[in-house]
Amino acid sequence: MATYVIVGAGLAGAKAAQTLREEGSDDEIVLIGAESERPYERPPLSKEYLQGKSEREKIFVHGAGWYADNGVDLRTGLRVTRLELDQHAVRLSDGSRQPYHKLLIATGARPRRLPGPGLCLRTVEDSEALKARLAGAERVIVVGAGWIGLETAAAARKAGCEVTIVEPDPTPLYRPLGPELGEVFAGLHRRNGVDVRTGTGAAEITETGVRLSSGERLTADLVIVGIGAEPEVGLARDAGLEVGSGILTDAALRTSHPDVFAAGDVAESFHPLYGRRIRVEHWANALNGGPAAARSMLGQEVSYDRVPYFYTDQYDLGMEFSGDIQGYDEVVYRGSVPDLEFVAYWLREGKVVAGMNVNVWDVVSEIQQLIRSGVTVDPKELTSDRR
Ligand SMILES: Cc1cc2nc3c(=O)[nH]c(=O)nc-3n(C[C@H](O)[C@H](O)[C@H](O)COP(=O)(O)OP(=O)(O)OC[C@H]3O[C@@H](n4cnc5c(N)ncnc54)[C@H](O)[C@@H]3O)c2cc1C
Repeated sequence: MATYVIVGAGLAGAKAAQTLREEGSDDEIVLIGAESERPYERPPLSKEYLQGKSEREKIFVHGAGWYADNGVDLRTGLRVTRLELDQHAVRLSDGSRQPYHKLLIATGARPRRLPGPGLCLRTVEDSEALKARLAGAERVIVVGAGWIGLETAAAARKAGCEVTIVEPDPTPLYRPLGPELGEVFAGLHRRNGVDVRTGTGAAEITETGVRLSSGERLTADLVIVGIGAEPEVGLARDAGLEVGSGILTDAALRTSHPDVFAAGDVAESFHPLYGRRIRVEHWANALNGGPAAARSMLGQEVSYDRVPYFYTDQYDLGMEFSGDIQGYDEVVYRGSVPDLEFVAYWLREGKVVAGMNVNVWDVVSEIQQLIRSGVTVDPKELTSDRR
């Protein structure tokens, strides 16, 4: 009997374990997670769960009995401390050693932190602590206008707090979306009463608030830090696996060691569509990448080439984003941006490289097909309401 060991019991790890079983493997599957909870999904932690709109039980990837029922040896509260690639084994924080035939690294990412009392959001405990603090807070400062910063700002407004967002880039979401759509999100938050300050960073976080890089001091009883995440590559790097901005893999999600695979936030994988390696820190990449790695571990031919996909919900805006804006030279719109009901297309040399549907549904596969096809489009036709 073979042994599959999965390090990291997040979404990618849990979905990989499920796929190993669904694909008919009756081998040993060991899923090791540093957190005390069984695998859960993170998107609700900054949205409905943070806002108290959904129950705790709903965040989990599988029911509590699923792991035992499916013969998956889930070991929570246990950290892998070392990979022994030559011996095909991992070392654990309780001093034990677990051999494997194939290993999947799905260790995810951890939030970038700033010195001082600012709260970060990654785990269910973080979300619960934040929810409790929001209930008692009057003035909140959110450092960083990325996805998590904006979603927590919306939750803070829902909780009745005064909210200021501080962001050094010229607009929110400047890097993933560019200035055009970044302004749409700035407008959304301003209309909902948030003081959005761009072009200025946090120089210091103290018990009483934030000193900005401009020297100005803002007071707050709660500071939230949402300045991105770092992939958990330490184990892989220490073991001598090739690491770039994540653990490097080929399109089959195989690392530089033939029996070791990586998936989810931690993997920087060759993407056949883009012809280069990319690292994607999104839910759908964990959901689909974990199963792809599992199939690859089982010896199936895998070429993981999903178009990157992301979604968010903030106030009355729900949206889905597909693709990668890198190198775009134009953004065109179908529908109404002021009414927040539109599709934005990012074009590069007349080809669609990314698309975002805002309060418009059932268009993701059409957008992704356009991105995949690489065909030159007529912007007038693309944005016509008669399509
Ligand atoms: C608050 C929040 C909201 C989000 N919202 C969205 C959203 O709306 N849309 C979207 O597309 N994406 C969203 N994301 C991103 C999405 O949740 C991640 O892309 C996804 O969780 C990645 O899954 P993963 O399994 O790769 O990693 P993780 O979920 O990070 O899981 C990795 C697990 O590995 C464990 N681990 C790490 N090192 C070790 C070790 N040495 N030994 C054992 N275990 C270890 C970690 O403790 C962790 O539990 C959000 C993320 C956060 C934090």
